[in-house]
Amino acid sequence: MSDNPFRRLPAVHDVLAHMPADGPREPILQAIRAVLADHRAALTRGEAVETDAAHVAQRAITRLHQTIRPKLVPVINATGIILHTNLGRAPIAPEAAEAARRAASGYLNLELSLETGKRSSRQDAIREWLCRLTGADAATAVNNNAAATVLALRALCAGREVIVSRGQLVEIGGSFRIPEIMEASGAILREVGTTNRTRLADYERAIGPHTAALLRIHPSNYRIAGFTESVTIDSLVSLGKKHNLLVMDDIGSGALLDFAAFGFREEPPARHSVQAGADVIWFSGDKLLGGPQAGILVGRKDLISRIEKDPLMRAFRLDKMTLAALEATLRLYLDEAQAMREIPLLRMICEPLEQLRQRAEQLAEQINTLSHVHATAVADEAFVGGGSLPDQRMPAWVVELSSSLSDDTLASRLRTGTPAVLARIRNGKVVFDVRTLQGDQACALVAALRAALQTELTP
Ligand SMILES: *Cc1c(COP(=O)(O)O)cnc(C)c1O
Repeated sequence: MSDNPFRRLPAVHDVLAHMPADGPREPILQAIRAVLADHRAALTRGEAVETDAAHVAQRAITRLHQTIRPKLVPVINATGIILHTNLGRAPIAPEAAEAARRAASGYLNLELSLETGKRSSRQDAIREWLCRLTGADAATAVNNNAAATVLALRALCAGREVIVSRGQLVEIGGSFRIPEIMEASGAILREVGTTNRTRLADYERAIGPHTAALLRIHPSNYRIAGFTESVTIDSLVSLGKKHNLLVMDDIGSGALLDFAAFGFREEPPARHSVQAGADVIWFSGDKLLGGPQAGILVGRKDLISRIEKDPLMRAFRLDKMTLAALEATLRLYLDEAQAMREIPLLRMICEPLEQLRQRAEQLAEQINTLSHVHATAVADEAFVGGGSLPDQRMPAWVVELSSSLSDDTLASRLRTGTPAVLARIRNGKVVFDVRTLQGDQACALVAALRAALQTELTP
């Protein structure tokens, strides 16, 4: 045996002999080299290390699994925030997910009319459903609502002025700023009014020979309270008619049902703007609609057709999986009761408080079978959206945890566990909000919590 401990370390090919025969070659070699480098570093510090090849191989396998595991993983959303942009916003209905799977794994009549055998538009799949559900004459869809905004402004207003209230020049989701989007579209922003008050006369005074449109933007993630005034879409439409201008409405959330019934007074359904006579209206597919990420434009046929002819339409177009999921989601809305049952977002919003309380109590009971933690069900409030509907709160039931771990430590262990769990922190305690827990996730959540608490005991 050599006196030089470094010489006792196995060669890469010796370790390789102890590794599984299949698997990605380059990452396997990298993992072995990394473990050997760690061992060498430990020896340099004078520490003892295991030097037999099988032992090194075991470590390399652990390391390999860490490096090649998927980066996108399911997360148990225990925040109670139904539309969490960082968690992918609305989960889609099983039927919509199945439609996306079928579209992805086979061929479909994406741009082919099966009647004529000729080329068709991929928008045909969703046009009719959208017209039915919003009352509009025409409809089209793109990648998201930001794309819809750029496209509508570019196709209909490039080089001309678009009048917008200063109270609506919002930033949405960190990088979507109305003034910047306007600039990117080539339309010229003409701001009117003040942050808290804009009147119809402000719009009217700004109208001139270069005006193309009046644009209303739903200030989705922001509310001005107190001394405020804004102009309704109906008044904007009358003003637009009088001056022969387009009236456009970015309604943001794209509710297809009347959410006022659920206490959401600030989220009028898309149909309202169509009825009011707005020329083009656009909204997201993955907010209150509860579908896949998309930007939906509805309105006058000639205008939708101009938008579709814009060269950027191709850059912003939806892929077949999203189109299939969107169509399936829209079809669910043909029967409102079915939509409420099948679309997870609607089901979560409508779940009765009493049922939430029962679920919270059951979850607390399950958690209380674990050691080192105590759980209590308590009434609370939750935000519906992160970044999209931050002002909209709903009553909630949460399970509050007490343990010897700090809230940050426990939350971080839950986040990095398998499955990953995102909890909320409330008054210095970790809480699980049951509203966003899907059907069978309670057991997985309890198992994840057990693992997070055990990490403490065996450091
Ligand atoms: C959310 C939102 C957008 C951006 O929509 P995305 O689908 O995230 O691109 C634009 N305008 C309004 C009013 C919004 O609420």
